[in-house]
Amino acid sequence: MHDSYITFTIGKQKSIALIAHDGKKKEIIEWCEENKDILKNHFLCGTGTTARMITDRTGLPVKGYNSGPLGGDQQIGAKVVEGKVDFIVFFSDPLEAQPHDPDVKALLRIAQVYDIPIANNKATADFLITSSYMDREYEHQVINFKKNVNDRASSL
Ligand code: PGA
Repeated sequence: MHDSYITFTIGKQKSIALIAHDGKKKEIIEWCEENKDILKNHFLCGTGTTARMITDRTGLPVKGYNSGPLGGDQQIGAKVVEGKVDFIVFFSDPLEAQPHDPDVKALLRIAQVYDIPIANNKATADFLITSSYMDREYEHQVINFKKNVNDRASSL
């Protein structure tokens, strides 16, 4: 493929970020409980409160970042850029205004830039978690950030 893109591999063992707005926390905990046997085979992380509640209620180990409104979504976005988070389940609440809406949009955008699977509701999460890619590697093309900087630095 064109050298503007490089091949990245989402490993067999995935690094999954779990995030839910307050109105959706119950739903993500139930979803994690339902899918515990699959989730336990992957590395889990999440925004502070969501991570803590999932661990408390399901026993799954979930590394917690800051709470979402205090920058947790941005921390997870940074991990996507570094290639350290490669799968996101983010139950956002479409019926409630969020103080950190710009951070939420930023995370969705960066997941799109880095071609990361991201579920924003239960149906999508169900389709993703039952995908045959869950227990094998997946290769995808991601923007070649080194070339991008070289090109921009020499042409702007
Ligand atoms: P929380 O953050 O898990 O700390 O509640 C989630 C969010 O609102 O993004």
